[in-house]
Amino acid sequence: MTGLDFLPAEQRRLFIGGQWTDAEGGGTFDVLDPADGSVLCQVADATVTDGKRALEAAVGVQDDWARTNPRDRGEILRRTFELVAARSDEFAELMSLEMGKTLKEAAGEVAYGNEFLRWFSEEAVRIHGRWMQAPAGGSRLLTIKKPVGPCLFVTPWNFPLAMGTRKIGPAVAAGCTIVVKPAQQTPLTMLALAATFAEAGLPDGVLNVVTTHSSGEVSSAIMADPRLRKLSFTGSTGVGKVLVKQSADQLQRVSMELGGNAPFLVFEDADIDAAVEGAMLAKMRNMGEACTAANRFLVHSSVSDEFAKKLADRMGSLTLGRGQDDGTDVGPLIDDKAVESVTQLVDGAVKAGASLVVGGQAHGGPGFFYPPTVLTDVPHDAEINREEIFGPVAPITTFETEEEAVAKANDTEYGLSSYVYTRDLKRTIRLAESLDFGMVGVNTGLVSNPAAPFGGVKASGFGREGGFEGIEEYLETTYVALAL
Ligand code: NAP
Ligand code: MG
Repeated sequence: MTGLDFLPAEQRRLFIGGQWTDAEGGGTFDVLDPADGSVLCQVADATVTDGKRALEAAVGVQDDWARTNPRDRGEILRRTFELVAARSDEFAELMSLEMGKTLKEAAGEVAYGNEFLRWFSEEAVRIHGRWMQAPAGGSRLLTIKKPVGPCLFVTPWNFPLAMGTRKIGPAVAAGCTIVVKPAQQTPLTMLALAATFAEAGLPDGVLNVVTTHSSGEVSSAIMADPRLRKLSFTGSTGVGKVLVKQSADQLQRVSMELGGNAPFLVFEDADIDAAVEGAMLAKMRNMGEACTAANRFLVHSSVSDEFAKKLADRMGSLTLGRGQDDGTDVGPLIDDKAVESVTQLVDGAVKAGASLVVGGQAHGGPGFFYPPTVLTDVPHDAEINREEIFGPVAPITTFETEEEAVAKANDTEYGLSSYVYTRDLKRTIRLAESLDFGMVGVNTGLVSNPAAPFGGVKASGFGREGGFEGIEEYLETTYVALAL
């Protein structure tokens, strides 16, 4: 089964309490193909009542699920991992259709996203408390870890699988139940994942999926219920702030993976070819539609011409096209608004004095394409250096000293990922300690790894996904004072 057939019409609906169901009133909304704007299919459009039903299902099985043996929870994750791996091509094609990314990138995401299920299948059996003697002697201090309880996950369209598995993996491992609300532009991959979890033996009600085009209303209604104990959100900083405020009413625990504005620093002692290679990865992964995307290239003035030329040669040789076609390097952006916003940022930079080396002109459609673009002499305070570009555009700014590089890099409200290219070990340590970012890539353009704690500071949010830290977001600590 390939393409849309991988998700039969029966499953293009809500998944609540282990059942595929229509939305109340039978409403649906369209899922579009970003390569030409045509309608791929419809999915159920959940109402507030449907959202509440999904939470009810999650709440109903929370106690049973929390009591399930850790090994059993781990085995379900492991079986799901095996099934997703066996269907990697099918997942990749479905994701490519709804999101636009190339099949190669989609397969990369399936492998990456699926690793969270494997990692947390292994973490499920390593949840433990501690036992210690009170400092003054006498009593013993014990801790017990317990699942937080029912969770709501709100996920974005740019990584339809991975942004789900890095939340679902640890929540299932910890013994939490879940309602997921995927992005309306890419609901299909999440529905296929839910079907796969069910096949792997996840009990009914542990994972529920509500697709809706009324995201605010449905999530508000779920969050208004005191039985929801946790919200994990990946998306824009603006929506994240709204959700943090909403979480205050019931004091839900919150994890926020928000926007980024990653600096990519290239020092005079860097291996320039390696830096260009890393830049291609950090910039062009997912057409630049990644929160970790290198957003600003800060290059030492003595190597900036060489770096810009080599980067422009590579960027200019990429082929735009439909993600499912052979030979496509760069797929479409997610929608017309994305093309408009990238166009405005590039035009604004040119007006502010930047020079176009390659690209810079939207292709006009059909489909939401924007060509790989390199800009040099971009003023530090240009809007393109302040806003998340979310497209295949590399603005280059120069610096003279390490101090200046760090000051420019940190001059942003965001703090998710950063990248540095240098061969100087002492400098590397100074940078790792002085860059205000949750992640620092050293001589690499890719930081994401399921075994590492992914997350940001400042306007990029709080909480960590992956690594040993990832499961803590789904655990509460009970402390027991034991008198002797
Ligand atoms: P978005 O507009 O914030 O949407 C993200 C999710 O929130 C979608 O499911 C969306 O549903 C939902 N949503 C929108 N308004 C809502 C509201 N009022 N209440 C509840 N849910 C609401 O972000 P996006 O444009 O889809 O994604 C791009 C952003 O995500 C970028 O800023 C990027 O950096 C960030 N991101 C961060 C990470 C990370 O780990 N830090 C990873 C990936 C992406 P609808 O689809 O219905 O609008
Ligand atoms: Mg949106």
